[in-house]
Amino acid sequence: MSKSAEVIQLEGATLRQQLLTPIATISDYIAEISQSLRSDDMLHEDLTRITDGCKNLRGQVGDLIEGQVLLNTREAGDLSKIRHDLKNPLNSIIGYAEIILEESEGGLPENHMSLLQHVVELGGEISTTIDTAFRHAASEEAQADEEAAIERLFASLNESSMGITISEEIEGSPILIVDDNPTNQDILKRRLEKHGFNCMLADNGKQALAIIEEHEVDLVLLDLLMPDMNGIEVLHAIRSTPGRRELPIIIVSGLNDARGIAKCLSHGATDYLAKPVEPLILDAKVVSALERFAYRRELNLLATTDQLTQLLNRRAVMARLDEIVEQYFSEEISFGMLLLDIDFFKKVNDTYGHNGGDTVLQQFAGCLKNVMRATDVIGRMGGEEFIAIVQSTSINDFHNICERIRMSVEALSCDHDGIIIKVTTSGGTYFSSELETNIKEMINIADQRLYGAKEAGRNRIQHIDTKDA
Ligand code: GH3
Ligand code: MG
Ligand code: MG
Repeated sequence: MSKSAEVIQLEGATLRQQLLTPIATISDYIAEISQSLRSDDMLHEDLTRITDGCKNLRGQVGDLIEGQVLLNTREAGDLSKIRHDLKNPLNSIIGYAEIILEESEGGLPENHMSLLQHVVELGGEISTTIDTAFRHAASEEAQADEEAAIERLFASLNESSMGITISEEIEGSPILIVDDNPTNQDILKRRLEKHGFNCMLADNGKQALAIIEEHEVDLVLLDLLMPDMNGIEVLHAIRSTPGRRELPIIIVSGLNDARGIAKCLSHGATDYLAKPVEPLILDAKVVSALERFAYRRELNLLATTDQLTQLLNRRAVMARLDEIVEQYFSEEISFGMLLLDIDFFKKVNDTYGHNGGDTVLQQFAGCLKNVMRATDVIGRMGGEEFIAIVQSTSINDFHNICERIRMSVEALSCDHDGIIIKVTTSGGTYFSSELETNIKEMINIADQRLYGAKEAGRNRIQHIDTKDA
């Protein structure tokens, strides 16, 4: 079919009346409900959305007829847009009326229920009028699909479980929805909240990044086409944030931009959802992304945690140290590193048994955690050897922290089945201003000083090389 001229057959005055009358009736019904509610009723918000939808629709119908737009020949694409612009507010009128009906679950007075049912019916009539007025061009089929899917999405709010199971691991997961269209946001949010997920909303990329920075987020649903920062730019920014490389991001994209989708996936998107979003696919992809993320997080925790003490293991410490050294040379964020070794630990094992030794290791770890801040790095390098790394500190403050650690260990009374075991610790340090670039060498320097501290009589921390002492 020709892409060009499509003659619209309608008489402006008739159409105007056919559209404006039911819109006015809906406004009246909503006003009637609204007036009978207390001012703090939660329903006001959704009712206002319906009223806003009516105003929007009324304005568009007015423009349409005044401009005689429908009386002349038009490009099919323009028609599709006009129709789409009319259907948008209509969708929210119908959608919110349905949502109120569904969510009230019979809690509304009879007359309110029936007024809202009328609103839904009138909305349906307006929709039919619009469809009749615009004979469909072939290119508009996709549009029809879109509306059908939006209707299904609204309808699906009513279906309870939809056959998905939400495991304990992902129950109530925080999900961030990024979309510049409030209706899209709201539909996704309500659907996901039905499944018990915790939704946060962002209208644009900047807001999304701020939320991700401040809040725990387990999944991002990201609209591709937004003003200012588009989805790919947001995706890129999230992926370049440390610790957010694995955060699942599902792109929500228009049906026809295969290139956009491919680009997103190659830029690190986890998955994509085609707009209009099919509720079943939404559920399946959200649950699957959350589950994979939870599983990865669990594996990651196992791989980086020392099982006996729950501190970071050697591997995780080395990875953190990499980042910390990088931050020193790129951003001048200073750091001090303290290598610790429990004194005469073999004797603890010999005297109290291996279990006694394990208890000491655990309580030693607990003591380090108590003395240090949550942002410091504390790890077990192996055996009875530990490491503590403090960032953004002066060398003097760092030496004070080291001394505080040594004293706390000395003061520690490890309780092993009622028997008190006492230990001390020796340490060797390295500070960033020593300008060593090789991480192994930094550890080597600290280790030599630790050896020096042992030689010098134990229960002490050494900050300089023995030969310089
Ligand atoms: P020093 O003051 O010179 O450090 O003496 P030390 O006895 O602490 O040093 P040494 O390295 O000879 O002994 C460390 C002991 O720690 C030997 C090893 O059996 C014990 N050990 C290593 N890992 C564990 C563990 O996971 N649990 C227990 N209970 N003991 C461990
Ligand atoms: Mg030891
Ligand atoms: Mg040792």
